[in-house]
Amino acid sequence: METDARLAIASIPEGESDRSFEVSAGEIGLDPESLSGALRVDLTISRSEDRFHITGSLSGTAVEGCSRCDVRFERSVESDLMLIANRESEGTTIEDVGDDEDFLLHQGDELDLRETLRQLVVLSAPMAPVCREDCKGLCPQCGVDRNESTCDCSSDRPDPRWQVLDDVLRKSKPDSGD
Ligand SMILES: [Zn+2]
Ligand SMILES: [Zn+2]
Repeated sequence: METDARLAIASIPEGESDRSFEVSAGEIGLDPESLSGALRVDLTISRSEDRFHITGSLSGTAVEGCSRCDVRFERSVESDLMLIANRESEGTTIEDVGDDEDFLLHQGDELDLRETLRQLVVLSAPMAPVCREDCKGLCPQCGVDRNESTCDCSSDRPDPRWQVLDDVLRKSKPDSGD
């Protein structure tokens, strides 16, 4: 599929130029549900023959599942991009994408930014996304959403299912010899 994230090298002028475009999640290899709307990309490209220095930013809205209560919520994605691409006979090499990783672009007459953009969106996600800082999550015993209602489960009464597991673990643990 044609996408603006694949820059035709012939269309990039010598010297500095700006480029702005929008891509959908699907265009850069993400789950179409993972972004709300398009990802906006603003680039400044500095070209010196077949060497490209690209800086810019991307912004959009990601859709995540809360790690505590499971609700889907939107999170803004703001990320900077900096990379250097050299065109070589075997292909085009991206030397730096911010975190010192190397990327090889497709050989040909284009700078393919799709994988770079995909990684930046993925890397912008927190390890354990929460819909809000004080999300109370689901009750581990009855599963009720504690943001919306309360339940009679006591927080200090252990889940009987975990109690069984505890017993199993205790029995299977070799005697430490005291
Ligand atoms: Zn939540
Ligand atoms: Zn409960």
